[in-house]
Amino acid sequence: MNSNYIQPRTRQELSQALGQMTENSRIIAGGTDLMASDHGRDSSTDLYISLFCLGDMAEIYREDGWVRIGAGAVHDAIEKNPIIQENFRALSMACSKVGSQQIRNKGTIGGNLVNASPAGDMLPCVCLFLGEVEILRADDTTYRMPARDFILGAGKTALKPKEALYAVWLPIQEGRSSTFVKLGSRKEVTIAQISMAVSWEKGEYFQKIEGYLGAVDTRPIYLEEMNHILSGRAVGREEREELVSSLRERIRVIRENRKRPPKLKITEAEQLYKERAVRSVVYDAIDQMEGES
Ligand SMILES: Cc1cc2nc3c(=O)[nH]c(=O)nc-3n(C[C@H](O)[C@H](O)[C@H](O)COP(=O)(O)OP(=O)(O)OC[C@H]3O[C@@H](n4cnc5c(N)ncnc54)[C@H](O)[C@@H]3O)c2cc1C
Repeated sequence: MNSNYIQPRTRQELSQALGQMTENSRIIAGGTDLMASDHGRDSSTDLYISLFCLGDMAEIYREDGWVRIGAGAVHDAIEKNPIIQENFRALSMACSKVGSQQIRNKGTIGGNLVNASPAGDMLPCVCLFLGEVEILRADDTTYRMPARDFILGAGKTALKPKEALYAVWLPIQEGRSSTFVKLGSRKEVTIAQISMAVSWEKGEYFQKIEGYLGAVDTRPIYLEEMNHILSGRAVGREEREELVSSLRERIRVIRENRKRPPKLKITEAEQLYKERAVRSVVYDAIDQMEGES
């Protein structure tokens, strides 16, 4: 089948294009995931909608106590944006660690979220910052929902047919700092084996700590124990080891409850590796938190 290709230049043109989509149509942003997947080579694709010429979809700006990141903003632009660096350091750090420079130049935050890979580095960050996603419909209206509800599982989101992810909104929380740690198998182009995004209130000790663990389950895991174990005290070896034990136990339970073989064929040995390796993630994260405070 010959595929049609539409390159909308305005939001209205994009809405009209969404109205033409069938179940065999694909949206393409940077193409770094799509073109490497079966969908990118699928001859039954009847329509590609490219987001490349939508300037508004790449913009990042402040509005009413929120920062709006267009779904088409690429990792490199998000990493270097001063508003992101000032308010959402963990997100800037995560973007700086995505793939190679080529991938960071083309890959978008929207593609990362819609792809919903458990190893996606944007997922724990957007959840950490209580982000909301703005979704565009074919009738040119939009609606918002919490990012935590948008990510349903590995490769699954709440996006409905004839909809596009239009922007990500993050509320600005004054007086907080954040960091991001990623453990992978290589220094460059590393897919996360474990990632951790943490934010806390600045002060003499860490306070009101929020944390998410990425890449160990199908969705980012909220770490309620972080605040309990680390906040309001000097953090020494005992607290670090208590957190390590808690996270090891969580990863063990996930491994043992996995009902079907994971899509990425993660082996038993790799899962056991995660239980051990989480220790260095915890130590790195706390070292970085101490360096920031
Ligand atoms: C070598 C390599 C290394 C990588 N390393 C990392 C890494 O370290 N960390 C990481 O997190 N990811 C990594 N990735 C994955 C990838 O680069 C990112 O997930 C990227 O952000 C995807 O964005 P994209 O714009 O290229 O998406 P695309 O490939 O264009 O699209 C991905 C999916 O999302 C859909 N889509 C895209 N935008 C929208 C939208 N606005 N609305 C609705 N649907 C949309 C597409 O239809 C498609 O199904 C890597 C990829 C490669 C090839």
